[in-house]
Amino acid sequence: MSCYVTASMRNRETVLSELQNAVAEERRSQLRVLHLLREVERDGHYLEMGFPSVFEFATQSLGYSAGAAHRRIQSMRLIKTLPEMATQIETGSLSLCVAAKTQSFFKSEDIRRKSEGDPKLSLQAKQEIAQSMVGASMRECEKKLAEISPEAALPSEKTKELPRGKTLIQFSAAQELMEKLERLKCLLAHQNPDGSYEGLLGVLADMALREIEPKKPESAPPKDDAQTAFVSTVEKERSRYIPVEVKRRVFARDEGCCTYKDEETGKRCRSRFALEYDHAKPFAWGGETNEANLRLRCRSHNAYTAEKQGLTKRCVGVPTYLLVKICVISRSRPLPTP
Ligand SMILES: [Zn+2]
Repeated sequence: MSCYVTASMRNRETVLSELQNAVAEERRSQLRVLHLLREVERDGHYLEMGFPSVFEFATQSLGYSAGAAHRRIQSMRLIKTLPEMATQIETGSLSLCVAAKTQSFFKSEDIRRKSEGDPKLSLQAKQEIAQSMVGASMRECEKKLAEISPEAALPSEKTKELPRGKTLIQFSAAQELMEKLERLKCLLAHQNPDGSYEGLLGVLADMALREIEPKKPESAPPKDDAQTAFVSTVEKERSRYIPVEVKRRVFARDEGCCTYKDEETGKRCRSRFALEYDHAKPFAWGGETNEANLRLRCRSHNAYTAEKQGLTKRCVGVPTYLLVKICVISRSRPLPTP
């Protein structure tokens, strides 16, 4: 017969008391993490450090898994909209999973409403929905959200790494998209004989990349042809127009990724998402639209740089980092000093 009693064994009440204190401390730390993440997003610290998004910062710099980062970022955005929910997270009556699911639902529902020309969810509606999630399990949360809006409560898009270099992709496709995919399956049956979605997406990806990805630049720009003459005229007249050949050269030189670099650490962003051609010396300050003055920037860092230069203001917390112009530069008005 085994004996579980040892000289160093503490009584159950002591252990449970310490455990409860540790759990309370863990929840306080969790909430502190959310507040600090909000500060990182609000003040653009992740951008300054060379990350294109808070998600990339949380996974790469803080070491969170994709799921853990997602839950914290979504929960952070929930308490940004509804600060009163912070207390529920701290007491444990609102789990991060449920908080994140509720915030994701708000976003999906707002997108759905916008597409149908309806007003967004009101703050009061969000408060009522969030309050109804207090004490709810994940299953109960999903059930309640599906009752409010079956469409917005569909499983969110996600990817999961599998063994042997495979990735599981999950998303819900609208009927219209499924009909297009089925038509493409028929049209591309010779390249994708087994009719699988993986095979079909592979063929479509190759076709799209051939079409969209900038081609390699010519070894030397053609001289004395019509295009060169046109480019010269365009540069002379100071235009934002970027000739295809210049785009190809900039894209190849910058290795097809964002060139933003943290001045302190030297970390380069290297994001390939939503790349834009940015004027190193802003066009508004007399910067030329040529290979020497152009550089690749992801949308986030393009917006961040413009904000630092006092040209635009970044919309914090909006995934697409929409730009809001805060100054209109005209010829009659003095330009800001670079
Ligand atoms: Zn970037």
